[in-house]
Amino acid sequence: MSDCIFCKIANKEVPSEIVYEDDRVIAFKDINPVAPVHILIIPKQHISDMTAVTEAEAGLIGDIHLAAVKIAKEKGIDQTGFRLVNNCKEDGGQVVMHLHYHLIGGRKLGVKI
Ligand code: 5GP
Ligand code: ZN
Repeated sequence: MSDCIFCKIANKEVPSEIVYEDDRVIAFKDINPVAPVHILIIPKQHISDMTAVTEAEAGLIGDIHLAAVKIAKEKGIDQTGFRLVNNCKEDGGQVVMHLHYHLIGGRKLGVKI
């Protein structure tokens, strides 16, 4: 999608601090972090939100999960713990309409995120 900020980040048209990349997934630092570690993990292909993932694309969710654990280990938070959060659509608080998961950690997280 030409007007999608996360597609532009995935295509390197817009700069970001990339922390992980493979052929299907890319992860970069959130521009407005809420914790010492706040990484956004996205599929490189444009998928608007969780409800738009097809059965054929379901493996991407596993790829994202595995990337999250790799990044957590790299950031040294795999033992202390973290959250992997998806905000879905308006009531879920989704602002950027390109599927993404927030990897958040590095401090004790409260009940509310
Ligand atoms: P959402 O509320 O859609 O789940 O989260 C979107 C996230 O994307 C927010 O945490 C916001 O700070 C982050 N974000 C929005 N625009 C950019 C950007 O251009 N670059 C980066 N690195 N993060 C962004
Ligand atoms: Zn996109």
